[in-house]
Amino acid sequence: MTEKGMRVVIVGGGSAGWMTASYLAKALSGIASITLVESENIRTIGVGEATFSTIKLFFDFLGLREHDWMPRASATYKLAIRYENWTQAGGHFYHPFQRLESACGMNAAEWWLKLHPGGEPFDYACFTVPMLCDASRSPKYLNGTVYDEKVRDLFPVSLSRPSLMGALERDVPNVFISGHHVQYPYAYHFNAAELAVFLQGFAVERGVVRVIDDVVEVPLREDGSIAGVRTKEHGFIEGDLFVDCTGFRGRLINEALGEPFISFGKNLPNDRAVAIQVPRDVEKDGMRPYTTAHAHSAGWSWNIPLYGRDGTGYVYSSSFLSPDEAELEIRDFLGPAAKDCNANHIKMRVGRCRNSWVKNCVAIGLSSGFVEPLESTGIFFVQNAIEELVNHFPNSPMLDENMLRSYNKIVAECIDGVREFLILHFVASDRVDSAFWRATKQVALPDALIERLAIWKARLPGDRNIYQPFHGFEPYSWAVILLGMGHQPASHLPLLDGLDESKARAMFRAVRESAVHLTATLPSQYEYLTHLRKQA
Ligand code: FAD
Repeated sequence: MTEKGMRVVIVGGGSAGWMTASYLAKALSGIASITLVESENIRTIGVGEATFSTIKLFFDFLGLREHDWMPRASATYKLAIRYENWTQAGGHFYHPFQRLESACGMNAAEWWLKLHPGGEPFDYACFTVPMLCDASRSPKYLNGTVYDEKVRDLFPVSLSRPSLMGALERDVPNVFISGHHVQYPYAYHFNAAELAVFLQGFAVERGVVRVIDDVVEVPLREDGSIAGVRTKEHGFIEGDLFVDCTGFRGRLINEALGEPFISFGKNLPNDRAVAIQVPRDVEKDGMRPYTTAHAHSAGWSWNIPLYGRDGTGYVYSSSFLSPDEAELEIRDFLGPAAKDCNANHIKMRVGRCRNSWVKNCVAIGLSSGFVEPLESTGIFFVQNAIEELVNHFPNSPMLDENMLRSYNKIVAECIDGVREFLILHFVASDRVDSAFWRATKQVALPDALIERLAIWKARLPGDRNIYQPFHGFEPYSWAVILLGMGHQPASHLPLLDGLDESKARAMFRAVRESAVHLTATLPSQYEYLTHLRKQA
């Protein structure tokens, strides 16, 4: 500890490292000094990144407007995830960033079970976003206003004004996603490597010391805490608190401190990925405002449209497919566009540390935990961990074990909740057409999920019967996955028969009219982002 307060040393300069550095530089200004050590020799994961809508709060907190950073990270908007080919019948459904409307106090999904308005699938009947996705619309008008009026007052989005949240949060540093009650109607796709470089500039301008070097040794004190990190060229770097952002290797938390890693392999068998970046002529082809998750023989592939290229890749289980077979299958699927593009093969460590904060070391990012990117939760875990670190930040190197316990519980519950949500995707799918899909029906299920699956046979997921601790997914998301995979409770809720059905029909009409109106009036994502780039 110095007169500048706690000395924080972050090891790792991927998305997790630079997100942490920029957030802490702002939140802990004056009470901590921050050093980030990153290796030039060890690669970052750096595949195209799709995010959660809460990421908006991260940029707002930093005071960054979209035209400041989006063009610098080839970013696009994401309104939903489109699931393709997840059922025997084929087809698709959308999981949007949009809550359900309601009539007579009952949400649209409950009413859809009773009325099946217009014979439409539930996602098109209950949400406006699927039509916007099909038409590649931007979530914003050219004057910068977002289409969803409910969020307009909370998040002014005029291109010429600084974000209100950014201004407010200058004095009150934490925007806790876990306590946030408004859902922003979109997230972003971005190039993680470019974003890390952008955030590096942001953090260094705010006093973060950047050291380019390899950490070669992590000596411990007698009490088992980290004394400092020894680097190849810059000697020994001392600190009070160490943040391990070294990726899957967990150089500090696992290798130096020996904290065990709990594998989720028996629940989620996918353990490898092959990523391919495919160029795209955005002027000619436009940009889809959604991530696609297309199911294949032994897993699924992502498609993340960036401004200029698509990030694509196949997430699969090495028990059923070799890397060469996976690459062949995804190349076949992508067609000639990917012919000359390199493939990047990645081994994934799926699970989480037993504790992500041990002694004076906090693991954030892949070193802390990771589940396959089906619901784009990697960056969300990073954001959650950073916010909770700030929330639990100590005022002296003498750490309070109860604070550590509190932090570890919150972080572990968040990751475990997402694990449960992802298991649902595979269990709910009726595909059994390959050894992989048959095996997904045999995975170990958490007891609580077994109980919930039984309840959901009778009624849709709701506030009381989903995984309770904060994990980012609301009841409507659980309902969307079940309905999208064709699971419907045996009947609608009898209570609806006593309610005014005409109000529900009016609600569905309003959703439809709104979707048609927005599709006709919003600019395309290409038009909007090209306009935004001119503001940059
Ligand atoms: P890394 O990117 O691996 O960075 C590790 C850093 O540590 C590097 O800078 C490295 O040089 C440094 N380092 C390591 N050892 C040392 C050492 N000894 N000395 C000095 N420096 C060292 N998340 C999403 O939100 N959405 C997605 O769509 C998504 N898709 C993904 C797809 C795949 C296939 C994978 C594997 C992950 C995906 N993720 C996604 C997760 C996301 O990539 C990560 O959560 C995020 O990039 C954070 O990574 P990281 O910074 O923890 O690790």
